[in-house]
Amino acid sequence: MPSITRPTDSIASDGLAPWATHETGSRGRCFFEPPPNTRSEYQRDRDRIVHSGAFRRLEYKTQVFVNHEGDMFRTRLTHSIEVAQISRSIARVLHLNETLSETIALAHDLGHTPFGHAGQDILNECMQDYGGFEHNLQSLRIIDELEEKYAEFNGLNLTFETREGILKHCSISNAKKLGELGQRFLNKQQPGLEAQITNVADEIAYNNHDVDDGLRAGLIDINSLCDVRLFKEQHTAVMSAYPDIPEKRAIHEIIRRMINDQVTDFIHNTRECIKAANPSSRDDITRLNKPLVGFSSEMKAMNQELKQFLRKNLYRHYRVHRMTAKAAIIIRSLFDAFLNDPLLLPPEQQQHVNLLENAEADSGRARGIADYIAGMTDRYAIREYERIFNATELT
Ligand code: MG
Repeated sequence: MPSITRPTDSIASDGLAPWATHETGSRGRCFFEPPPNTRSEYQRDRDRIVHSGAFRRLEYKTQVFVNHEGDMFRTRLTHSIEVAQISRSIARVLHLNETLSETIALAHDLGHTPFGHAGQDILNECMQDYGGFEHNLQSLRIIDELEEKYAEFNGLNLTFETREGILKHCSISNAKKLGELGQRFLNKQQPGLEAQITNVADEIAYNNHDVDDGLRAGLIDINSLCDVRLFKEQHTAVMSAYPDIPEKRAIHEIIRRMINDQVTDFIHNTRECIKAANPSSRDDITRLNKPLVGFSSEMKAMNQELKQFLRKNLYRHYRVHRMTAKAAIIIRSLFDAFLNDPLLLPPEQQQHVNLLENAEADSGRARGIADYIAGMTDRYAIREYERIFNATELT
């Protein structure tokens, strides 16, 4: 791997490349607010996310392993912090807006349901007749509407660029309902580079930490991981340099080198892509019909191999699947119970559901219930299930 050099050409006085997201070009917030005194606008966005209730709840939401399975596993919160670390490193070296990429990373999973992807899939099934459920759109709903903290507006009133970065994907029908924010999906355009790199940072973070968590849980082992080139290369290097290294330390050393390799490849390749596209502004990037960032083709293939390994050996492992199956029962049961009898909801939630139901009838009722369920942590969902379906449980 060649070392990373920092090019000094094409860098503006604020240290950012001309094609980075410059705060002076921001499309602003939905509700006017005077500029912050001591921070930048994107810092304010980041700080609002960190102080939100949805962010705190990420601590008790599953990434792959349900939170109570062990204290050492990643949760959505630690995952989001790892994504922020990786995307900040990449943004800084590419002279992109580091604060914006950190902000998007910290917010990218806010809309996730309890129980990881299993939770999202089953809630989407429950919502089929009512417009579906998509965690990405839910993240936007949280920051635009559901957080009730500020005196003058619902939501967090974040800047356009942060909101754009959070909305990674979106169906055409949903995009049509989102006004200015949905426009890029209709025009097949891209978000800024800060959002693009954060998507890849997300992937780098979860592929590598899932290897770590999978090994710790004993669901995958070092021998079988040696079929994966990315792992094998680093395993060989570490074991030949440190033949007596204890296993735990070896695993960390291998994984940190894997992350480093992927990040370095991504930075080099993306820099080449930027050079080839020769943009002179952010608009030149967003007008393209596909993302400009990416791994080299060799790293892309190696990444694919790692993903396939994880899919086959970790995500479909019977112990993970058992939890997935339980999650489906819990979420579907809660959804059906609340839909049939909203009086089972706590008063604040009843109020929220009533408001939506008055505006949009059955779809409103279902959406309000989905908001409640999506906001639950793993353990809260399990407790709520107990309180409703266990006859001996005190409510
Ligand atoms: Mg993520």
